[in-house]
Amino acid sequence: MERRLDHAPTPPTAPAATPGTAQGRCAAAAAQDPTRCEGPHDAATIVDRHGKEVAGCIHHCARILAGLDGARVHPFVPAAHALEIYSRARELPPFAWEIGR
Ligand SMILES: [Zn+2]
Repeated sequence: MERRLDHAPTPPTAPAATPGTAQGRCAAAAAQDPTRCEGPHDAATIVDRHGKEVAGCIHHCARILAGLDGARVHPFVPAAHALEIYSRARELPPFAWEIGR
């Protein structure tokens, strides 16, 4: 199963999948993931296997990293943030929100 980073902003005319949850979250937050951000929305950047980048908070970067095969933390991300993301992602199932986590 291959998924890509597809976090393009939702057009204003499109109905939101989960109204009210997509507001004010970082770009790394998956549309289906109802969890809130932790910390700055640009704390880290994730690069998928195709080279596409998305910036986000530590929490959501870890959550998308867990489900993106071949993705990594951008090398410019501070080591402390990168370690936090990798260690969190290691504890998460892919697409954790699909099973209610
Ligand atoms: Zn976030």
